[in-house]
Parts: sequence; structure tokens; C-alpha cells
Amino acid sequence: MNERLQNFINGGWIASSADVALNVINPASAAVLAEVPLSPAADVHQAVEAAERAFVQWRRTPVVDRVQPLFKLKSLLEQHRDDLALSITDECGKTLAESKGEIQRAIENVETACGMPMLMQGTNCEDIATGIDEHMIRQPLGVVAAITPFNFPGMIPFWFLPYAVAAGNCFILKPSERVPITSQKIFGLIQTAGFPAGVVQLVNGGRDTVNAILDHRGIRAISFVGSTATARYIYSRAAANGKRAQCQGGAKNPVIIMPDAEMEMTTRILADSAFGCAGQRCLAVSVAITVGEARNSFTEQIAAAAASRKVGYGAAPGVEMGPVISAESKARVEGLIAKGEQEGARILVDGRGRKVTGYEDGYFILPTVLDSLPPRAETARTEIFGPVLSLMHASTIEEAIALVNDRSYGNMACIFTGSGADARRFRYEVNAGNVGINIGVAAPMSTFPFSGWGESFFGDLHAQAHHAVEFYTQTKVVIERWPKDWSRKF
Ligand code: NAD
Repeated sequence: MNERLQNFINGGWIASSADVALNVINPASAAVLAEVPLSPAADVHQAVEAAERAFVQWRRTPVVDRVQPLFKLKSLLEQHRDDLALSITDECGKTLAESKGEIQRAIENVETACGMPMLMQGTNCEDIATGIDEHMIRQPLGVVAAITPFNFPGMIPFWFLPYAVAAGNCFILKPSERVPITSQKIFGLIQTAGFPAGVVQLVNGGRDTVNAILDHRGIRAISFVGSTATARYIYSRAAANGKRAQCQGGAKNPVIIMPDAEMEMTTRILADSAFGCAGQRCLAVSVAITVGEARNSFTEQIAAAAASRKVGYGAAPGVEMGPVISAESKARVEGLIAKGEQEGARILVDGRGRKVTGYEDGYFILPTVLDSLPPRAETARTEIFGPVLSLMHASTIEEAIALVNDRSYGNMACIFTGSGADARRFRYEVNAGNVGINIGVAAPMSTFPFSGWGESFFGDLHAQAHHAVEFYTQTKVVIERWPKDWSRKF
């Protein structure tokens, strides 16, 4: 009998009232790890009521005191880094090194949010008119919620949680039902960190749980990360219910390789970008556009890098790439590889239909390279979210930038070049919110916003840093006059 995971509500662990649960599966072995309840609206309501009660005191708690449990949480995350990393690897599939890197990014967001006593300061102007002063202060919203995807169970909740609570809000997390175990472990640490009951809560579930969150009148703001279709849906339903929303969606990230790029470094970095985390990163490069003479050397070297990547269970020594998340995902990615071929691409390295010894039931696809994918092909526009890199070839940088900009997503675009002028032109013209110059995964550090554009983001204030502070606070402008004769009365 597998353990049924619990919700963390009002400072304690509580069984969900759900009568439906899903199995949580290790994608490397297909072993069942636990059961996750699909919490109904009643569980969401219980969490919101506890959060509303907690908010009364939490917003009155001085900001310097509100960040103290975050300092403790940072230290607990550091102490439990290995255990959390193994949990991510077991439920999500990525390698231990990738999982540890993910926890590091979570810790950095906690560190940044600990600066809230400075970050949420307002502005003022004395004598905006004669004897009149004007101030803009930031106040928390109330109860806020985040809905997160499967591919970074240890990091993405931290794009939101530390900022929300440090700014004085009470926060509810609904993690992906495919990877809920890491959240259980994180909430074990949150319990130890000493937040008052109701300030940080966890409600497990799926689609119905999300709808209950979106429709609950007590929740003021929604943060979402996941696929574009879900992001668009959540953004509209949250807005229709009068909520503030920031919704990060899917991606199809291009890179341009110029003939003057340092080819050995470029290939190593791009192999890691395309095949790292089995391509299940919203910042994975998935289309490589070579310019001129870069074509031959890059094609040859990336094919060799793809064919030699060691694939297996992410915690096994020497493994460089794990499985994709599910049997459905494996079938979908393999179908898209076949579709790419039908649409005119040549399969240079084929990762389909391969078994990993000792993990024969796992959802493995080996690195795959599609050459000369026609730019108008559907496969060139669809997010594959697997270890598949498609190659396109251009004659000039103009042609290559036009190919980069001919897409609806705008999460990331990169260039590899030795020319400052080409790099500047790319940075200036490209339609993407995160740009890499000789960088393969342009993931903003926690002190910068995660700036997706186009169909990769719905909203205006992004995750992390100042944007998170603005998202989780509302401004109040105070204009005041104190005539002399009034003050004499006291
Ligand atoms: P997903 O959209 O399937 O699920 C994300 C969350 O939404 C989950 O918590 C899930 O329970 C919920 N959900 C799913 N369908 C729903 C529906 N119909 N109604 C209500 N809630 C629903 O995404 P995923 O497969 O877990 O994650 C992979 C996707 O996330 C990829 O598209 C990837 O590019 C994207 N992603 C984007 C970023 C970014 O920063 N832009 C970061 C990570 C992942």
C-alpha cells in the first residue's frame, strides 16, 4: 500500500477529503512512489479560511520579523539539499546534479526575498504642493496562490512563495500532481522554519483543485507556470474572477550559431541546453539555426554529442540525462519526431525505441537530432518538451533573426558568436524576453525577473525579484497636509 500524501493546512498535516487519488510514478523505473489526492473545493476552502485568519496578524508582523522564518528555511534547504535532490530525481527523472542545481536556485530566491525590508519600501515627495507631502506605500494583497508544473518541483514554488510571504501575504501552493513528493518534503522544512499557522499552505490536486482556487473569492492573486494552453485558460478565468494573475507558459527556444562561434564550447553548451533535463526545461534550446559555414561543423559535432550522451536513472553515477516524465509524454515526443520526418526533416540521430539496461520499463528517449526541418513545418512551431534538437540553416544573420522572430513563443533566444556587433544586433532585434549571448540556458538569477514574452507569458509582472515584490503588493498613495493651527490644538 503506497503512502497517500497529505495537505498542509493551518500549520499541520491533514488528510485530504478527496475520494480520488493518482499514483505518483518514478519515470525511470515506472515504480509507484506514492498516491496523491485530488483535493476538492472543500479542502481549498479550508486552506483559504486558515489563510484569511492568519493574514490579520501576519500583515501586522514587522517585515524584519516576517523574513526570519525565511532565513531558517534557507539554512534548512541547504541542510536537506541531498534528500530534496534525490526526491526530485526520483519523481521527475532529471539527474542528481540537475536536481541539486534546482535546489540552489530555490535557495537563491529565498535569499533575495530576505531583502524585503528594503525591497518593499515605498517612495515619497515632501512639499508636492506647499505644505503637502505625498507618499506611496506598499501593502500586501491578502491570500495568494501558486499553481506549478512538473519539471522543476523544487525550484518553481520558490519563484513565488518567499516573496509572497515576506511581503505580508498568506500563500497557498498547488504543486503538479505528477511530482508532489518534493513539495511534501519542502513543507516539512516549512513547518520547522516557524511560520505562524496558515501563512504557508499546501493543497494537492489537479484540474478541479485549480478551478476551486481560481473561483475562490478569498484568493486575490494567482501565479502560474505550465503549458501555454493552461496558462491562457488560467489567466482568463483568474481575470474574469477579478484576480491579479501572472501566468508563464510553454516555449520553443531558438539559437543562432554564427560561423565565428567557438565551436567546441558552443556544441558542449548547446548539447546541455537541448538534452539536459531530457529537454523538459522551458529554457531548453530546441531549434538551432546555423549561419553560413557554421552548418557543417556544428551539425557534425552536435550529432556526435547527442549520440554519446549517457542516458539512465538520474541518480546512477555518470548518467547525463534521465527519462521524460510519463509514458504519454514519451509517446507524444516520439510521435513528433515521426511528424518532423514526414514534414521534410532528416533524422540525423534517432533516440526512439531504445531501452536502458536495468530500467527497461522507464520512459526513456535518447537524444535526437532532426536536420533541415522546414521553418513552416508544424514540428518547428510545436513545443516538443523532450530531448529533440531541430536544425535549420540560414545564409545570413538577417535570415536567421527573421527565423527566430517568426514564432509565437518568446521565452528565450540565444546567439553564439565572436562578434560584438552581431551580438548587439541580435539582442536589439530579437523577440524574446530572456536572451543568451554565448549562453545556452539564459535563466535569470533570482535578482532579475524571469521575463518571458509572447505566448510564453500572460500578464505584466513576472516571477522573481522586483517584479515579484510589485505583484504581491498593492500601492497606496497618501497625500497629507497638517495646517499649523491644527497642530497647535494638541
Ligand atoms: P501543465 O500546464 O500540464 O500543468 C501545470 C499545472 O496546471 C499543474 O499544476 C496542473 O495540475 C495544472 N493544470 C493542468 N491542466 C489544467 C487544466 N486544464 N485546468 C486547470 N489546471 C490545470 O504543465 P506541465 O506539463 O506540468 O509543465 C510543462 C509545461 O510548463 C511546459 O509547457 C513548459 O514549457 C512549461 N514551463 C514554463 C516555464 C516558464 O517559466 N515559462 C517554466 C517551467 C515549465
